[in-house]
Amino acid sequence: MRLQRLTTALRTFSIPLRPQITASPSRYFGKLPLPVSGATVLKAAPTIPIIGSLFSSSAKAESSDNMSYPDQRSDDEWRAVLSPEQFRILREKGTERPYTGAYDAHYPSNGVYTCAGCDAPLYKANHKFKSGCGWPAYFDSVPGAVKRFTDSSFGMERTEIVCNNCGGHLGHVFKGEGYKTPTDERHCVNSVSLRFTEGDEKAKA
Ligand SMILES: [Zn+2]
Repeated sequence: MRLQRLTTALRTFSIPLRPQITASPSRYFGKLPLPVSGATVLKAAPTIPIIGSLFSSSAKAESSDNMSYPDQRSDDEWRAVLSPEQFRILREKGTERPYTGAYDAHYPSNGVYTCAGCDAPLYKANHKFKSGCGWPAYFDSVPGAVKRFTDSSFGMERTEIVCNNCGGHLGHVFKGEGYKTPTDERHCVNSVSLRFTEGDEKAKA
């Protein structure tokens, strides 16, 4: 979209200059108008691959698997404390079926959703909103609690979110969907990845 606009803009910009150049080349060669026009087009051209690279696989410099998190438990250690379903979703990036999660239609007035793996506070009750998507939805998180990665699985470009303390998979974040929330972001989180505690004490951590 942006690339297309840039290309159109360049084309629009360069068209009026061409007849002048063709009409009297000797008048313009070596003078300012032609080099300025040429330089602008040449200068703009290298930005096209840069814009393109934002959407290519080279942007995936980081993966949620190889990060160093404060909580560095091994898979065996996680298996010892998580249910098979929690392990599948938190440690193997699984997804619970929509409209089945414990917190999908859960709207407490206060309280904190912590990571079901390591208990780090992730979302407050007042971050939650009704999205109708079938999973718990939050428009924001506890500051610094959630880390984002580019996820190119299933032929889509999505933003994966994980717990910033243990790397546990939470779900994905989507932006610009038009929800009337302060951020217009939707953290689409598996209920299995969360544990709810009443009261706001944990969010102060
Ligand atoms: Zn965690």
